[in-house]
Amino acid sequence: KVLKFGGTSVGTAENIKKVKSIVKSQNCDVIVVVSALGGITDKILTAANNASQGAGDFHTELKEIRTRHEEVIQTLFNGTGSIKDIVNKLLDELEQILTGITLVGELTAKTLDRIAGIGERISSNIVAQFIGAKRFDSSEFIRTDSAFGKAMVDFEVTNKNIQDSFAGFNGIAVVPGFISKNSKGEFTTIGRGGSDYTAAIISAALDVEILEIWTDVNGFMTADPRVIRKAYTIPELTYSEAMELSHFGAKVIYPPTILPVYKKQIPIVIKNTFEPENPGTRILHRVEKGADRIIKGISSISGIALVTIQGIGMVGVAGI
Ligand code: ADP
Ligand code: ASP
Ligand code: MG
Repeated sequence: KVLKFGGTSVGTAENIKKVKSIVKSQNCDVIVVVSALGGITDKILTAANNASQGAGDFHTELKEIRTRHEEVIQTLFNGTGSIKDIVNKLLDELEQILTGITLVGELTAKTLDRIAGIGERISSNIVAQFIGAKRFDSSEFIRTDSAFGKAMVDFEVTNKNIQDSFAGFNGIAVVPGFISKNSKGEFTTIGRGGSDYTAAIISAALDVEILEIWTDVNGFMTADPRVIRKAYTIPELTYSEAMELSHFGAKVIYPPTILPVYKKQIPIVIKNTFEPENPGTRILHRVEKGADRIIKGISSISGIALVTIQGIGMVGVAGI
């Protein structure tokens, strides 16, 4: 199985303990994909933007990022062991690059990708050590082009790399989501929310039995429960229904996640880390439950404006 845990699920020491008990209760080989601690990626991006604005100050964010991780490590490891050094080294790397951005007063998409995934590089080390699992580095096997920020995966190279990396592996592995590298060995990322996609890429390459997305709600719901309080769980969805709902705003799954597992007919199960007994949602090729319901759910994207542009000068102008 591949189990992916999102930002809230690994957001605090208490939550990481829940993750451990879910992982330990599996009775098969598992690959665990983790996001950064909730909110960390946003903070890194804000810090980088502040740093690029010359006089801007990134130290407030950096301090918050350090404190969050220190607190988690303190609780989980009593502040002892090699994890502290590993995390400090990654945070120092972040600080150095932020200092560099301040000095040049410029932030490129390439530099941003160099640091955007530090949250996952840290969280995967914390979770691997806490569970007592082997850590694999997904940036070493997920190969992309150089479209920094939302790079395209080279599946031919990636699938082979994944198969080689996990050949003969048994037990529990932990890998960071979201991060990848291009053919020059530079860090890239596969889009915001991309840890779901990492999990799907690995699932398809290894043809696993099931992909479980562990998040902070009881599966795929009829609407965003943060917006509609009465939203309830949809027990089963087809791949195309899930794709449609997520493409149009249901953040619970990152849309590109669906395709690799759909091609291999690997079921996706969406589960709640904070209510593991809840069956959540199964995403399958064909569904029985609710097949007669024409409307499965409603999704929405906020903060969007639709602009109509018209004018006689636009006819036939390339690029319009
Ligand atoms: P994670 O960090 O685990 O990847 P996300 O925040 O990316 O979690 O996705 C889970 C969130 O998606 C939920 O907390 C919920 O607010 C939001 N969401 C939006 N639409 C839906 C939906 N239809 N069903 C469930 N959750 C939804
Ligand atoms: N941490 C990344 C993000 O916030 C990836 C993920 O969580 O899926 O976009
Ligand atoms: Mg997500």
